[in-house]
Amino acid sequence: MSETSSRHPGRPAGPGRATRLVRGGLERSPHGETSEALYLTSGFVYETAASAEARFKGEEEGYVYSRYGNPTVTMFEERIAGLEGAEACFATASGMAAVFSALACQLSAGDRLVASRALFGSCFQVVTQILPRFGVETVLVDGTDLEAWKRELAKGAKVVFFETISNPTLEVLDLPAIVALAKAAGATVVADNVFSTPLLLRPIEHGADVSVYSGTKHIDGQGRCLGGAILCSRKFHDDRLLPFVRHTGPALSPFNAWTLLKGLETLELRVERQARTAQAVAEWLEAHPAVTRVVYPGLASHPQHALAARLLEGFGTVVTFEVQGGKEAAFRLLDSLEIVDISNNLGDAKSLITHPATTTHRSMPEEQRRATGITPGLVRLSPGLESAEDLLADLEQGLAAAGGGRAAAE
Ligand SMILES: *Cc1c(COP(=O)(O)O)cnc(C)c1O
Repeated sequence: MSETSSRHPGRPAGPGRATRLVRGGLERSPHGETSEALYLTSGFVYETAASAEARFKGEEEGYVYSRYGNPTVTMFEERIAGLEGAEACFATASGMAAVFSALACQLSAGDRLVASRALFGSCFQVVTQILPRFGVETVLVDGTDLEAWKRELAKGAKVVFFETISNPTLEVLDLPAIVALAKAAGATVVADNVFSTPLLLRPIEHGADVSVYSGTKHIDGQGRCLGGAILCSRKFHDDRLLPFVRHTGPALSPFNAWTLLKGLETLELRVERQARTAQAVAEWLEAHPAVTRVVYPGLASHPQHALAARLLEGFGTVVTFEVQGGKEAAFRLLDSLEIVDISNNLGDAKSLITHPATTTHRSMPEEQRRATGITPGLVRLSPGLESAEDLLADLEQGLAAAGGGRAAAE
């Protein structure tokens, strides 16, 4: 157990989460600005040549170059690391830069990577196409099947990789159990926690070695910029990650770090509201005759509902469902929506809907799509901050149009 505050017995010492979301990492300049200072600079100058030498040697504190670090980026890194209690963080230009760097910094030719098969399209490409080109052996398992993890890990593994809630089919994985199996096999665990956000689940608290985020999704949450973050121990950061990222250059722009800092300030308010709307939408969809399947961890019908209730502090902001009539009906639904926009992003203030089979998961082989339940009629909805009543009305008329086309064709 962590230390508890004497004034509030039972509560961990230190500021609460809502306070950390707003003030974590804040370092004011001598001007005392209210909002975080934006240090929009690529480099830094030195008083003397000897000082430059000392900073490059690491013997003098101070920034060197924004590919290595930048004061605005540091504020973002400290704020997000503080949410998971991670010792260290490196912020990246996108979520995929975070995923790739976290894996590539520790894998070498001949190493074995065991990953869950239910992955975001680009994660799937990194694992199955890009890393194997460098001699990394990749094995995919059904991430919800602990026996499958056990079987593959028994053959040895350097790294284990999975999405804690998968995109777009919302499989909820038993993170503590997978971490225990990976540790027993001597493997490092990299958890993609994008869909969970650090509000629902904190992989580092459960013993994962690395937790990765796309800042593009809920953290910005307002459609403005790309970004990502890699959370880990100080040792992993210094020994594995820094030597890789310093020289390969996936660094986050200071401007985007500033935007993401502002995003974190309202993250809790937005995610709570979006999750409430998602639950209402999921329950409403489950009763709709034109919908053949609804996937949302907050529904009793979700295969991992009990696990989600035990493990997560909420059920997430994304609802995935299948419309009757396959791709044509799904396209008619998307084209008929008047409020919800067609977009492959998610976690945004604006409600967004996508057809994974033809967009985010287009590059995944058909058989893999089928194995993870990405059928032609499947759509992924990310409710935004609009009123839930308006979204339900929009879905109602959209589903009527989706079914209407089918009826007319019959
Ligand atoms: C979007 C996403 C990423 C990649 O994030 P980008 O910021 O778009 O690069 C990685 N993992 C998951 C699960 C995602 O949904």
